Amino acid sequence: MEIYDVTIVGGGPAGLYSAFYSGLRNMKTKVMEVQPVLGGKVNIYPEKVLWDVGGLPPIQAQQFIQNLVNQANTFLPTICLRTKVEEITKQDDIFVISTNTGEIHYSKTIIVAVGGGILNPIKLEIEGAEKYEMTNLHYTILGLERFRNKKVLVSGGGNGAIDWAVELLPVAKEVIVIYRKEQLSAHESQVEKLKEHGVQIMLNAEITSLVSNENKTAIEHVIISQYGETHQLRVDDVLISHGYNREVSLTFADEIQPLRKDDYYLDGQGQCKTSVPGIFGAGDIISYNDKVNLLVGTFQDAVLAVNNAKLYIDPKADKYAMVSSHNKKFIEKNKEFLKEVVYKD
Ligand SMILES: Cc1cc2nc3c(=O)[nH]c(=O)nc-3n(C[C@H](O)[C@H](O)[C@H](O)COP(=O)(O)OP(=O)(O)OC[C@H]3O[C@@H](n4cnc5c(N)ncnc54)[C@H](O)[C@@H]3O)c2cc1C
Repeated sequence: MEIYDVTIVGGGPAGLYSAFYSGLRNMKTKVMEVQPVLGGKVNIYPEKVLWDVGGLPPIQAQQFIQNLVNQANTFLPTICLRTKVEEITKQDDIFVISTNTGEIHYSKTIIVAVGGGILNPIKLEIEGAEKYEMTNLHYTILGLERFRNKKVLVSGGGNGAIDWAVELLPVAKEVIVIYRKEQLSAHESQVEKLKEHGVQIMLNAEITSLVSNENKTAIEHVIISQYGETHQLRVDDVLISHGYNREVSLTFADEIQPLRKDDYYLDGQGQCKTSVPGIFGAGDIISYNDKVNLLVGTFQDAVLAVNNAKLYIDPKADKYAMVSSHNKKFIEKNKEFLKEVVYKD
């Protein structure tokens, strides 16, 4: 039975930074993430540019995720993807973590970093649609280049859908928006941009079926119903942005008390502790006075949660880690790093 010092539930920004920081504090660390990728809900907006993370130049969210993952890997934690934590119990002093894979994991402490829960895109309810997900049916955009010179149908009328449609304008050959309601519900300035570019916006319209190409690998036509009429549209790609289903994710630890009765979020109780000794929280899941639900806020939480996990295991440990600029752990890493840096006058 392999026992970890810290097991982090959730591989979003809070979980990833916790993984880095607990490595810095010499703790044997594991991260468990239900999705096949790390990065948490930053994956919802991969092409957006982040301007509000201290000390970073404007950076695209997907690159930011990559940086977080690289940093999290500094001290080589164990990372389990596609692993949903389903139950946490305690045997003597050790937490026993049950997962959807049937595997059991053991840990001295836990950091809960599950954010707002598990987000899954609302899928198109058309039989057989899933087979096109390998080719030209998308629920997110992982890279705009994929859509260069393509005719793209965007389904949805909220901020997510319209933001994507605007991002696609300089790249795609043509963008068409369809929405089942009478009016788009996105920010007006973004809707204006679509109108300025003469984008066809079909309201009161929805996709009723997908027609495949000859070898049945990709969508060739989309059948749309609008005001009782049927339209057939030839497309290169279809992007569905109908929002997300949120699965609340704290059912695995009933004894952790939420902020208020029936609330989802956890009461930070100061120092990112929860109501259960040995279980800490970081990031959007934890709430306390003056909390900021921003990326920078997740980093402060991670430091607090990790430092308290360290003290829980070893009450005589230093309260804080030595800052990285003067921390001996980085001597060798600095030599490697500085070899690659060329300073300019
Ligand atoms: C559209 C949008 C734009 C934003 N823009 C900005 C911005 O510009 N600047 C900024 O500072 N902030 C921004 N934010 C906020 C920022 O993304 C969040 O504050 C941040 O992602 C919170 O990180 P987290 O790690 O706490 O949670 P999350 O990012 O939600 O990550 C939680 C992770 O836990 C996983 N998980 C949940 N339950 C389980 C389980 N049972 N087992 C295993 N894994 C589980 C989830 O799959 C997820 O990967 C934005 C948010 C949104 C939605």
